[in-house]
Amino acid sequence: MTTPEQIRQQLPEHTDGIEVTCHEPMARHTSFRAGGTADVFVRAMTREALVKSLAFFTENGIPFVIVGNGSNLLVSDAGYHGAVIVLSGTEFSKITVQGERILAGAGAMLSDVARAAREHALDGMSALFGIPGTVGGALYMNAGAFGTEIKDVLRHARILDLEGERIEERVLDNAACHFGYRTSIAKEKMLCFLEGSFTLTPGDAIQIEDRMQMLLQTRKDKQPLEYPSAGSTFKRPPEGFAGQMIMEAGLSGTRIGDAEVSEKHCGFLINKGKATATDIWRLMQLVTKKVEETHGVRLVPEVILLGEFEACV
Ligand SMILES: Cc1cc2nc3c(=O)[nH]c(=O)nc-3n(C[C@H](O)[C@H](O)[C@H](O)COP(=O)(O)OP(=O)(O)OC[C@H]3O[C@@H](n4cnc5c(N)ncnc54)[C@H](O)[C@@H]3O)c2cc1C
Repeated sequence: MTTPEQIRQQLPEHTDGIEVTCHEPMARHTSFRAGGTADVFVRAMTREALVKSLAFFTENGIPFVIVGNGSNLLVSDAGYHGAVIVLSGTEFSKITVQGERILAGAGAMLSDVARAAREHALDGMSALFGIPGTVGGALYMNAGAFGTEIKDVLRHARILDLEGERIEERVLDNAACHFGYRTSIAKEKMLCFLEGSFTLTPGDAIQIEDRMQMLLQTRKDKQPLEYPSAGSTFKRPPEGFAGQMIMEAGLSGTRIGDAEVSEKHCGFLINKGKATATDIWRLMQLVTKKVEETHGVRLVPEVILLGEFEACV
């Protein structure tokens, strides 16, 4: 068996392009601030280093996952036995504005892209300001808020196709991204988002800024932003709102360990201190069971689970 340390030694490390650590606590890299370690944690800072690392893991049959800001991830307390790869540094977080188009690297924060749009008086992204994810994570999830999803502004995405014999770079237009409610082609096919190209419309910078601040205030008023969470834990079911159903099921404030159903917004499960991933997972299952009993609706997690989780309710 190859140890994480051996993987680190074998990785085609080259100047400035890559940083590798072993047994990296994923609580440092997830907004839940919980969970175990990643056997290997890779920060890829150039496209070349990224491709070499991905090729290395593929050729050696080592499981890997590309993550963004970890704002929709729950990593098992038993850890992730493979490599977590993060697109890091200036090459992947570059934001370029060309007329009404914005090009943003997959590692750029969505809020920075929305700010760049506002600075250039470009409208269309203000509702996405405040989602604490990267462009890559937002494309994977088709993140959205207040009636706008990232698919509404995406023109095309540059990706690495990880399914063929060789890793190929491709451009997918909006339709080819297969966007749906909190889903994209990346849930069907192994790929890495490298960059998004967004088409916006000319607007008024002051009005855009006002809307961004107003929506941010709405988040602060309605969401428990003072505690670690992954935002809405469950997807919105066709029958209504998950938060409302959870509240009607009498679960507001229900706690397992330090994991709690937020009293401020029942759709958020929060970490009140030292919650483990198991606490959060058990609470997710309890909520699912109770809502099914009271409403006949099976909630589906929006949060992405990484590593092994056992059914326990
Ligand atoms: C306080 C709070 C509020 C939130 N509000 C919202 C909201 O209003 N709307 C909303 O939609 N979400 C919301 N979220 C959830 C989360 O911020 C979004 O889903 C976000 O898009 C995740 O981005 P990320 O970079 O953190 O991705 P991660 O959590 O790191 O990863 C999410 C998924 O994307 C994949 N991924 C990440 N980068 C890449 C890449 N480059 N290529 C391929 N796959 C990749 C990962 O493997 C994983 O499966 C909220 C979260 C928090 C904590």
